[in-house]
Amino acid sequence: MLVDSHCHLDHLDVSDREGGLSAVLNAAQSRGVTKFLSVAVDMASSRSLIELTARHDNVYSSVGVHPLQKTPQPVPEIDELVSLAQQPRVVAVGETGLDNFYSSETIDWQRQSFIHHLRASQQVNKPVIIHTRDARDETIELMRKYQPDAGGVMHCFTESWEMAERALALGFYISFSGIVTFKNAEQLRDVALKVPLDRMLVETDSPWLAPVPYRGSQNEPQYVREVAQCIADLRGISLEHLAEATSANFQRLFQIPA
Ligand SMILES: [Zn+2]
Repeated sequence: MLVDSHCHLDHLDVSDREGGLSAVLNAAQSRGVTKFLSVAVDMASSRSLIELTARHDNVYSSVGVHPLQKTPQPVPEIDELVSLAQQPRVVAVGETGLDNFYSSETIDWQRQSFIHHLRASQQVNKPVIIHTRDARDETIELMRKYQPDAGGVMHCFTESWEMAERALALGFYISFSGIVTFKNAEQLRDVALKVPLDRMLVETDSPWLAPVPYRGSQNEPQYVREVAQCIADLRGISLEHLAEATSANFQRLFQIPA
């Protein structure tokens, strides 16, 4: 059994797919991917994903506002995050975090929003999903200052081993996406080799970042299998072993019964 620990099901284009989203999820299930965490990117998707999880089994969601926003958004209020995050199929707060690479001009907004997500995560006792790029020291500093008891995950990890070690030391999990399969991702594969198996997750971040050999086409949850296979090969273990470990980690972190 595999889990896609981070996808955006509400952003998949299923317009020319017979059966729509159900067909996408069935395709994943037929390749052994049995659980999905669909991550919110703004308050509208936080709400609509709650409805989506009610229509599909084995789909869970989060509540949050992505740090990269094309149009300015108000900083989400802690109370508003908390009240949505208390819904039963909502298992996490995020994605949130800091990105100086794509959007350094909004860093003050990002920081305030990140703090609100961390505090909401503390209040509701559900883990936080963190996006970080080119903001290592400040990301770690805020994680430490507002550390949620329920922990969290550094999603779509693309940083150094040193950054991974700092997040692991705070009890966080590290999640790898299809980027790990990219030709030029040598440094990241090195990190994927070192992260302890009991602290690792795999994800697609679909519809973005399709793994090799599907680069250029829309990504979807079934391709988490390619991500898992790549890391299993790196580590010299079977796909089943990696799948079992990452699925157990997913259930532990997000408090999801088997
Ligand atoms: Zn994402």
